[in-house]
Amino acid sequence: MKVKIEVPSDHPRRVSLETREAIIEGHDSHVVATAGLLAHGRGEAFDYLIGEKTTEPAENAARAAVAAMLLAKHPVISVNGNACALVPDELVELAELTKAPLEVNLFYYRKDREDAIKDMLVKAGMNELLGTHDRPSITIPELSSNRRKVDPEGIGSADVVLVPLEDGDRTEDLKDIDKFVITIDLNPMSRTAVYSDVTLVDNIIRALPLMVKFAREMKNHPREELRKIIDGFNNDENLAMSVRIIMEHLDAIANDVSSLRKKKNDFKVDE
Ligand code: ATP
Ligand code: MG
Repeated sequence: MKVKIEVPSDHPRRVSLETREAIIEGHDSHVVATAGLLAHGRGEAFDYLIGEKTTEPAENAARAAVAAMLLAKHPVISVNGNACALVPDELVELAELTKAPLEVNLFYYRKDREDAIKDMLVKAGMNELLGTHDRPSITIPELSSNRRKVDPEGIGSADVVLVPLEDGDRTEDLKDIDKFVITIDLNPMSRTAVYSDVTLVDNIIRALPLMVKFAREMKNHPREELRKIIDGFNNDENLAMSVRIIMEHLDAIANDVSSLRKKKNDFKVDE
């Protein structure tokens, strides 16, 4: 994530501010839809609640997600504006490592948004983007109207679909047509989170680099080992653990609000 503004390295909310800036710059360059700004705000709030770090359940979900992508016959990564604005390099890297093509699928379709997303991903090293207006498309009647057209080489024939930052309607639709759905969503109670097969309750800025790391480690694992990881994963239990982590985090704060008043020095980075 490269952004134009400079936030002091000792600023306690540096990462959050830089992430917000990447979304704003993505909006300026038409990558991010206006509704994407609001979706990001909801994500920020949940990140606060979970403690702005990758939890153990999120790590286990990331492992299961990568195992499912590596085992898939035809995995696909669906890309929207927010995901592209925040983690373009990692999307391209994960696509290469798991042999999952990237497919653009926009709720608020605009040709200039599609072009801006494509430009950004090409700059990140992507060779081919599925789902663009100049590609063949097939219509899946079960999908909601503005998402009905999918790429025959992408979601059209995919068995496993990674839909980072997706809305609940689309997740339910993809389940209705029997896809194995992996998602990244900071809200463990959203419909997206509860209808998916694997949900990473984590910020996409941490989740994608983690998936890339696991994909590098696991890409030569025997298939039985990957199968075991998926079979040992239960999404409902994992979501329940994420909700408990939020409750425990809030409980700790309720017991000692003064712990939030850290001195500025606590955040100073060693020089
Ligand atoms: P649903 O439609 O699934 O019930 P929702 O209405 O909350 O859920 P949206 O309106 O699409 O879904 O809101 C965006 C979702 O994306 C939110 O759940 C938010 O927590 C999540 N989100 C936003 N930014 C990020 C991010 N950077 N990383 C992970 N999740 C994010
Ligand atoms: Mg929604």
